[in-house]
Amino acid sequence: MDLQQLLRDLGDHAEGKIKQAQSLAELEAFQLHFLGRKGELALLMKKVAEVSKEERPIIGALANEVKGLIERHLEAAHEQLGSAEINAQLVEEQEDITEPGIRPPEGHIHVINQAIEEITDIFERAGFSRTRQPEVDWDWYAFEALNMPKEHPARDEWETFFMDAPISSKWGKMLLTPHATSGTARTLAQAAPRLKKEGGSIRSINIAKTYRRQIDITHVPMFHQFDGVYVNKQVSVTHLLGILDYFVKEFFGQDRRTRLRPFHFRFTEPSFEIDISCGVCNGSGKINGEKCRTCKDGWLELGGAGMLHPNVLEAANIDSKTYSALAFGWGVERTYMMKEGLQLDDMRLLYKNDLRFLKQF
Ligand SMILES: [Zn+2]
Repeated sequence: MDLQQLLRDLGDHAEGKIKQAQSLAELEAFQLHFLGRKGELALLMKKVAEVSKEERPIIGALANEVKGLIERHLEAAHEQLGSAEINAQLVEEQEDITEPGIRPPEGHIHVINQAIEEITDIFERAGFSRTRQPEVDWDWYAFEALNMPKEHPARDEWETFFMDAPISSKWGKMLLTPHATSGTARTLAQAAPRLKKEGGSIRSINIAKTYRRQIDITHVPMFHQFDGVYVNKQVSVTHLLGILDYFVKEFFGQDRRTRLRPFHFRFTEPSFEIDISCGVCNGSGKINGEKCRTCKDGWLELGGAGMLHPNVLEAANIDSKTYSALAFGWGVERTYMMKEGLQLDDMRLLYKNDLRFLKQF
């Protein structure tokens, strides 16, 4: 076959193909197909060895011509398709600047953090400072320093998560704090040198995550507690009642009353359970002659409190003959639910991140 004719045919064939190309990607494929190192032109040029010496320069010139021709067609098509693609993109992305913007949905802080902020604020106004203590701590602060020696049965009440970590000969096992009182034990130990040197008092509130091995509709394995302590000379139960009454009136409303019921805790002596008057029946226990279904005889159980046990002060290196202290603590979630008058069927809802629920607060 005539190589010159084959070259001319290749040029015509390539021109036809390139003119029909629909996209830049297709053009790129044609470039490789016709002009690539293993492309059709290169294949034809291998046959140059078969033609006579005289004809070779003619073939060479023709091959260059065909190559140039294909390149020019590719370039022209590239320009045309390129601007068409850009235009299409521009049309697609065109913005109407008069169109109103999309406002991102506005969130708010989680209901439990709202409660923590409010509780902190109330106690700060009474001179308490919020402390921050580790939530992974030693057995010592969670139990031993709180008048619960090793093997004491009272420990069983807290279904504690122990860490798989080396045991300290001084502090015992490592654990996830089962109550916020461990933070208070740390605060007392930290403040003890200052008390010894300068005197004064300690007013601290520890609000922290607590962890227990429990989950059902009224329990979650992680929840929040606040734990307050006031250490000074001659602190009495009257002070305790005063502080609790102040908190209850600020948090729940001025018409709410507080009462203490004797109870037993290891780290306080005497110990009390705190009740507040029911907001639904106004503490009467009755609505229109019927029994109030929210409370028990007009009272709701809030939390625990008492005078700190002398052993707890001593464990923190505070002289229990000079100082006395009151302490109180209970769950943030529970307190908040009582405030809102919410009959929350399932505590776990608080941590399910369901916006339909959380948006209500
Ligand atoms: Zn009631």
